[in-house]
Amino acid sequence: MLVMALPPRGDASADPPRAGGSHAGPKCVKQKPQRFLIRSNYLPHPRLHERSLRYRVEEYGHLDGIGPSGVNPHPVTYYLEHTTFLGLPIQVNRRITPAMRCVEAELARSCRRSPYTAKAIGGYRDYNSYRHGEVTNHLFGIAIDIDPQDNPCCGCVDPWPDNPRCKGHASSIYQRMAMPECWVKVFEKYGFYWLGHDQLQDTMHYEFLGNPDRLGR
Ligand SMILES: [Zn+2]
Repeated sequence: MLVMALPPRGDASADPPRAGGSHAGPKCVKQKPQRFLIRSNYLPHPRLHERSLRYRVEEYGHLDGIGPSGVNPHPVTYYLEHTTFLGLPIQVNRRITPAMRCVEAELARSCRRSPYTAKAIGGYRDYNSYRHGEVTNHLFGIAIDIDPQDNPCCGCVDPWPDNPRCKGHASSIYQRMAMPECWVKVFEKYGFYWLGHDQLQDTMHYEFLGNPDRLGR
């Protein structure tokens, strides 16, 4: 199931977003994931797949031997930065860090009733974890995994389906993970797509599919 639009939530929509801590307050742009960048929308259609890949190269940098050439003079590595997220070190594409700051600030403010502390996160990867021509957004530095063991990918290849959280009946995908549903709602508010909605049921994984040009830099 895809969740394209979210109804307003009482505890997460009342106040305008603001930055926390010592960050200079970013202008937080609420936006939805762009439909043509959502995996389940483009995968069955080679042309759409190609278009999504071209967009990602244009916006986030080119990759050796993957995707079109000549549309962005800079490699992905040009855009990478080491930063922190949720108090943990991470390397990501710097074009999405404004959105990450907005998520971070709102998680602290809006998800207090369902506390959760991330213990391990991952961002940029220099290898492709997909097969059959698909390109992971970790290669572009625009995907973030949170606590893989506690938030498994039940539809991924072995041994993932053996994770205890993937066993037995679950009436909702949110029961397959430790991360609170409130976190998903907050990420989705700022242009991140949660792969828990995908047939992969990759509950640890968020990817920024909003428009980075709207993030103010
Ligand atoms: Zn991931």
